[in-house]
Amino acid sequence: MPTKSRPAPPAPFEPPARVLLGPGPSDVHPRVREAMAKPLIGHLDPVFVGLMDETQELLRYAFQTENKLTLAVSGTGSAGMETIVVNLIEPGDPMLVCVNGIFGARMVDVAERARAQVTTIERPYGETFDPDEIRRALKAHPAKVVGIVQAETSTGAWQPLEEIAEIVHEAGALLAVDAVTSLAGVPLEVDAWEIDAVYSGTQKCLSCPPGLAPVTLGARAVETLAARKTKVQSWYLDLSMIMRYWGSDRFYHHTAPISMNYALREALALVAKEGLEARHARHALCGQALQAGLAAIGIGLATRAGNRLPQLTCALIPDGVDDLAVRKRLLADWGIEVGGGLGPWKGKVWRIGLMGHGARASNVTLFLSALETCLRDLGVDVPVDASVKAASAVLEQTGQPVSV
Ligand SMILES: *Cc1c(COP(=O)(O)O)cnc(C)c1O
Repeated sequence: MPTKSRPAPPAPFEPPARVLLGPGPSDVHPRVREAMAKPLIGHLDPVFVGLMDETQELLRYAFQTENKLTLAVSGTGSAGMETIVVNLIEPGDPMLVCVNGIFGARMVDVAERARAQVTTIERPYGETFDPDEIRRALKAHPAKVVGIVQAETSTGAWQPLEEIAEIVHEAGALLAVDAVTSLAGVPLEVDAWEIDAVYSGTQKCLSCPPGLAPVTLGARAVETLAARKTKVQSWYLDLSMIMRYWGSDRFYHHTAPISMNYALREALALVAKEGLEARHARHALCGQALQAGLAAIGIGLATRAGNRLPQLTCALIPDGVDDLAVRKRLLADWGIEVGGGLGPWKGKVWRIGLMGHGARASNVTLFLSALETCLRDLGVDVPVDASVKAASAVLEQTGQPVSV
């Protein structure tokens, strides 16, 4: 006899209709959703193995790399972060982390747990690092690995990377990049920019559910793995073993999350279908339209000009407007989810994501008209349709429908 009594069996779960315009997860393309509902096959089935090979090739396109070691780690973006850190770092190794938001700070925590000797350079929220600061920091504190975030989802800051690898390599270090929110949203040239290790996630600009972490490691990073004197601290994230499953051995390590891999393959197929250039242009245009719309109703942006990501906008909440009241209303009346501020920006900004399948003209105008209505109802003086008009003017520049 079971000692715990039988619960009332719930009906099948029916999620409400939502438009996901926050910092992730983003709206999933129907083709990706359908892929997840397909029957399972085994994780060593030759057909599944073929799907993994295809996924690796599609990931190489998304990352713009020829790196052999390109695969999807089981776990979310943070598992990608942890994978890169624990595989490149041995206890006592020095690591320099650039912190200008929550995710840089998370990388410090992960590195400290891996027993790295961490030094940091910091920038206020909404700002980015210039190459000289990194050069100076490496002079003062030589490091084995430098960690930096390309798209800081907590602040909307877009970190230029083109010049950084050279500085890092001159100092004898490896460059590790967080591309969780940047991959397939803004340009990322892993080979051309000589980035040694990159991790990403599936639920931001790839528009796939959360659950896998694409990673890629170049020759220098692979040599570093081979030269390790100690075992990787994490059994689950040890790339030397995971590689053998993704490589020709197909050696069992852990059971791949089959349905998630179906989804990622489909999401990457959509990236290949659209093409990276068109995809970047779509994100850029939608971001620009949203930002123009906000400006038209007097809403400022928290991120420093020149550093603003198109796929994640940090809008300053107008004085006297209650953050939660607006977000609750957007969700209840329009089904729109946006994110709140984090850290020093808590209660001060809304984080609006236009990522992947969500980066569409209809979402820009839907969000702006919903926001206008909310603000007007709260007594803020907002000219009717001003934001939508300004956004539409930007969207019409191309003369083409912005959709996917
Ligand atoms: C979302 C995000 C992460 C963490 O990814 P999870 O999937 O939430 O684990 C890491 N870095 C950045 C920049 C992110 O936006």
